Amino acid sequence: MSLSDKIFPPPKFGEPYLLTPGPLTTAYEVKEAMLKDWGSWDEDFRDLTKKLRKNLLSLLGKSKNLYDCVPIQGSGTFAVESMLGTFIPKDGKLLVLANGAYGLRAAQTMDYLNRDYHLLDKGDYLPPRGGEVADILENDKAITHVLVIHCETSSGILNPLEEIGAVVKSAGRKLLIDSMSAFGAVPVDPEKIDFEAMVSSANKCIEGVPGFGFVFAKLSALGAAKGNCHSLSLDVEAQWSAMEKSGQWRFTPPTHVVAAFLTALEIHEEEGGVAGRGARYTNNRDVMVSGMRDLGFETLLDERWLSPIIVTFFCPADPAFEFKKFYDLMKSEGYIIYPGKLTVVDSFRIGCIGRMDAHVMKGVVFAAKKALETMDVESAAPPEAAFLERQRLSELQE
Ligand SMILES: *Cc1c(COP(=O)(O)O)cnc(C)c1O
Repeated sequence: MSLSDKIFPPPKFGEPYLLTPGPLTTAYEVKEAMLKDWGSWDEDFRDLTKKLRKNLLSLLGKSKNLYDCVPIQGSGTFAVESMLGTFIPKDGKLLVLANGAYGLRAAQTMDYLNRDYHLLDKGDYLPPRGGEVADILENDKAITHVLVIHCETSSGILNPLEEIGAVVKSAGRKLLIDSMSAFGAVPVDPEKIDFEAMVSSANKCIEGVPGFGFVFAKLSALGAAKGNCHSLSLDVEAQWSAMEKSGQWRFTPPTHVVAAFLTALEIHEEEGGVAGRGARYTNNRDVMVSGMRDLGFETLLDERWLSPIIVTFFCPADPAFEFKKFYDLMKSEGYIIYPGKLTVVDSFRIGCIGRMDAHVMKGVVFAAKKALETMDVESAAPPEAAFLERQRLSELQE
């Protein structure tokens, strides 16, 4: 039986599927793993923490020995802030490559940290390219680090990580990666992309529940970061040192979330790790996108840039279409979708990640068809302005 034929049981409590970038639909076993209480100091929980770090590290492949993995309490943004605060020296300078909300949030974080940065803002979705990054690094020798968002979840674009990584390396600078929404489903191999640190969180492609993020960092970077962080609770180096010494988190860990995450990691491994998970999400996307296109919907991005994580669609130009109504109709069929984030034209997003397969995605398309009929929308075709936006992107192809 191929993965695409596998039928996942629907959520047991009758809750809707979350077609969102996280928190997302989790396996029943993941939820069940939270039924037990753990003493945070107890050896049994320390064993969980150890296993969590080891199993996450093993996802980095052959070069895992150069890195360590440090979990940090809080949502993904806390982990991004902890990475920036811990690894960029107080006299360092960061180049932020932004093409959406998460890149801009990182720049805002640098404002709070009061550390120097240069912002390359590509707007709603245009990808930062190697050439322009090389130019900026050539012209500004003060830049020590570069931050790239792997999948910019606000449009769903998969940014050209390898291309940028190569440029950063040859310019002798250090690469930081926000792979929040891609890690676990899109490979990041340090043999191909030489990064200093990378973050992700529990409730995205590993399919755990929210409550902590984790930072992969080079051992050399951890060793050099002592005393660098602006914040006690977000200090990755201090968390790492404490965990190495005592096996414990410095402050109350999200015990149930950690237990659930270990179950999620087991399921991830059973599915074939990063490759297996990536294949299911890619199939989810392909089934959903082709069905939506059959209904007349258009994606913001063309195939080259589409991630297997989340997809942005233009809202139809037909005046009978109203996003709020569409959302409610989809919800009443059991599917929670996500509003769009484009500034120029109206859009919405549909996620491909979480405990869902192609059968669920077909259900999503069918529900969208029904919703259009209920609203009396005759055509799902987007407005003229949407095509102009796409034109800008296609001019940039190579
Ligand atoms: C989800 C996400 C984050 C973190 O968001 P939180 O709401 O703090 O969990 C950061 N970056 C990207 C690219 C994301 O998708």
